[in-house]
Amino acid sequence: MFGVVPKPLWERRITPDARNRIPMVMRCLLVEHHDGLVLVDTGAGDKDDAKFRDIYGIENGGRAGRTQLEDALAAVGHAPADIRWVINTHLHFDHAGGDTFRDDAGTVLPSFPNARYAVQRGELEFATHPNERTAGSYLAANFSGIPFHLLDGEVELLPGVRCLPTPGHTPFHQSVLVDSGGERACFLADLVPTSAHLPLPWIMGYDVEPLVTLETRRRLYRRAEAEQWRLWFEHDATVVSGRLGRDGKGFALVDAVVRA
Ligand SMILES: [Zn+2]
Repeated sequence: MFGVVPKPLWERRITPDARNRIPMVMRCLLVEHHDGLVLVDTGAGDKDDAKFRDIYGIENGGRAGRTQLEDALAAVGHAPADIRWVINTHLHFDHAGGDTFRDDAGTVLPSFPNARYAVQRGELEFATHPNERTAGSYLAANFSGIPFHLLDGEVELLPGVRCLPTPGHTPFHQSVLVDSGGERACFLADLVPTSAHLPLPWIMGYDVEPLVTLETRRRLYRRAEAEQWRLWFEHDATVVSGRLGRDGKGFALVDAVVRA
């Protein structure tokens, strides 16, 4: 998760287990918009076998619904059928795995039957033409049967909900900017997966274009700091969100919201 950052540095911020795994979550964003519910990313879903779940330590089974995501939707009074838009930041299995589910007959179907699914056109192209380096993250059952609404670059999908290309992790990765009540929030997705990744060069080994990630961060941080965005972390097990501040020469998180 920390690429070329040496372990003695990163383990001070997140303690790994004996298999070098660190605790993470797959935090999705729900926007309760006047035009309908918008869900950003869908976690890992429940189509994977036991071996796959063990490698990544995935615990995603729901108590009432199929997944913890469906349980969380129910907790705020919504069912999968209520979702109007699903925005995928990209199509890696931990972001789009919950796009679909497998029914009792083994057929893969959309998890959100009344939703339109949106992704960058380039990301779908990249996902459907994998190579030896990218194939492990792109599992066709997560996206091949979905009639995507394809986006080309920055798009305001609904008033106040903007898809913002943030390339590097994948070439057509996007983040989502939400304006509400005079405030602006940015769901960063894998541009900055946890608050520990805020330093510009703390870039994941998974990123296919790490130097592009670096420049995307530099550009986004400038705006985020100037406009005081609230930044949301998809994979941080404790820090949900915060604003960008300074710690000496580097960046630091201020005004953090921490998971109870
Ligand atoms: Zn991810």
